[in-house]
Amino acid sequence: MTSKKGRVFSGARPTGRQHIGNYFGAIRNYVKLQDDYDCIYCIVDLHALTTLDTTRDLRQNTLEMAWDWLAAGMDPKRSIIFVQSMVRQVTELHTILSMVTPLGKLTDLPTFKEKVRENPKNINYGLVGYPVLMSADIALYRADVVPVGIDQAPHVEFARETVRSFNFRYNTNALIEPKEKFTEFPKILGIDGVNKMSKSLNNDIELAATAEETTARVMQMVTDPARQRRSDPGNPDICNVFSLHKMFTPPEKVAEINIECRRAGIGCVDCKRILAANMNAYFAPLREKRRVFENDPEGTWDMLRDGAARASLLAEETMVDVRAAVGLPALQKG
Ligand code: SF4
Repeated sequence: MTSKKGRVFSGARPTGRQHIGNYFGAIRNYVKLQDDYDCIYCIVDLHALTTLDTTRDLRQNTLEMAWDWLAAGMDPKRSIIFVQSMVRQVTELHTILSMVTPLGKLTDLPTFKEKVRENPKNINYGLVGYPVLMSADIALYRADVVPVGIDQAPHVEFARETVRSFNFRYNTNALIEPKEKFTEFPKILGIDGVNKMSKSLNNDIELAATAEETTARVMQMVTDPARQRRSDPGNPDICNVFSLHKMFTPPEKVAEINIECRRAGIGCVDCKRILAANMNAYFAPLREKRRVFENDPEGTWDMLRDGAARASLLAEETMVDVRAAVGLPALQKG
């Protein structure tokens, strides 16, 4: 990899087909970062194992996610795109980093307590070590930049502290302390108009949905609840349909809807139809591109394996230094 402004690492759990909240919250940013950084993007399937009841859909969900990433413009020629479990050194570094991480620090983390609340019947060892595996992901590829929203800053801070503990304990500079790059992640509400868009809440609109499915989802969207009849004036400021118009509809039309809604000059059905049409037009090229990848799952796996092979080279460079610093034997003679 040639270094541009630095090396970015970001990972996401294989949640299957991505929705428009994922697109505006992460994927679009991943695509842009490729212009200025050497980017390493990872589908973190090992992390997913901590909370999955069944792994039946894991491979398919990995593929579906990769298809959305690729169709959106994440480019395996410019970036390294791969699956976490394909680079085995990450589990080795995770084990080594776990030795410099106090257990109490892990069980005190608000994210751990939250996971315990969400999965009271499955509080497994992997869940406790989740942040250590996350630190291993970042440190293994010597990423210096991690794109995050403001609420995820503690994760990068944790990784930084873990790297610092390791380097201090073994008197080395083998690992690099990452820095966060704060990014605007607009919060996209789901079709219920209340909660953040999420697959598990079934309030999402998938990028890969057909035009008809998208329109049907948009027609279900909750609008200004005070607008009961067509003749009632509405308030676009509290309507999620209007928020989404700002992302998909030309500004002149948004301004017109803003006025017409307030004087009942446009009905919600028509307003939603316009949104659905614009959303479908916006995602049409992505959907077309996705179909090409969907028709070649083996080609997609090959691409992910190729990414993993490139990531493994970087990983092994780091692990040679890590093993030497710790005092573990070298795998290669010389
Ligand atoms: S007209 Fe549009 S912006 Fe106004 S309440 Fe209905 S859906 Fe929302």
